[in-house]
Amino acid sequence: MNAIHRQLQENLAEVREAIAGACRRAGRSPDSVELIAVTKYAEWSWVEELIELGACQLGESRPQQLIERNALLKPGQRVDWHLIGHLQRNKVRPILPLVSRIHSVDSLKLAKRIELLAAELELSPKVLLEVNLSREPAKDGFSPEELESAWETLCNQSHLQITGLMTMAPDTSDERILRGVFRELRELRDRLVSRSDGERKLPELSMGMSGDFELAIEEGATHIRIGSRLFAGCDSANP
Ligand SMILES: *Cc1c(COP(=O)(O)O)cnc(C)c1O
Repeated sequence: MNAIHRQLQENLAEVREAIAGACRRAGRSPDSVELIAVTKYAEWSWVEELIELGACQLGESRPQQLIERNALLKPGQRVDWHLIGHLQRNKVRPILPLVSRIHSVDSLKLAKRIELLAAELELSPKVLLEVNLSREPAKDGFSPEELESAWETLCNQSHLQITGLMTMAPDTSDERILRGVFRELRELRDRLVSRSDGERKLPELSMGMSGDFELAIEEGATHIRIGSRLFAGCDSANP
């Protein structure tokens, strides 16, 4: 067993333990939280070790890197790809057949583009709508107001399976601010569901990263996106 393997095994066990702890505090089942390993900064050999260890939900933020890495998979290596970063219009076609979910549908224009190509390719992609709750102009995503006004049009995109909402919390360790953001996403979801008379369920909340996933779980996250915490120490471990 090599050092990378041991390091990843340890990190994965720690993260899973932390997930279980947060689930206990929130009275939730650990099965209700999907761990997505964010591989954007990881070397491919590390990712392969992680797959060996059974972490098969992988997240990439750049469409091009997701496409390239998907091509590196060996026969028998089964993973689910999650696109978690901005999707350029010209990358929609190659990305659609590869991904389990697109977490980062950040505009009505992009949703319509995905709808068009999904119809053509006869696919019904699962997507989450990205919301910018910290209102930082540099961040992608719908503002809550934009999302509320685009909601009906979004629901009319018949090939999209809109499974939930996604957000990135601001870069802070202030627990009150982080909780507030996660709660705001959940409440926005609840408002949208009630507007569709419960016909749209939006069960998924993709929120929580290395620094804040326990709080996110306590506030209802179903998909957490963990990068640095999973790969910590791999840089210095000898392969
Ligand atoms: C990089 C990234 C993550 C993971 O961040 P870590 O802090 O390394 O866990 C999660 N979500 C998105 C959208 C990212 O781009």
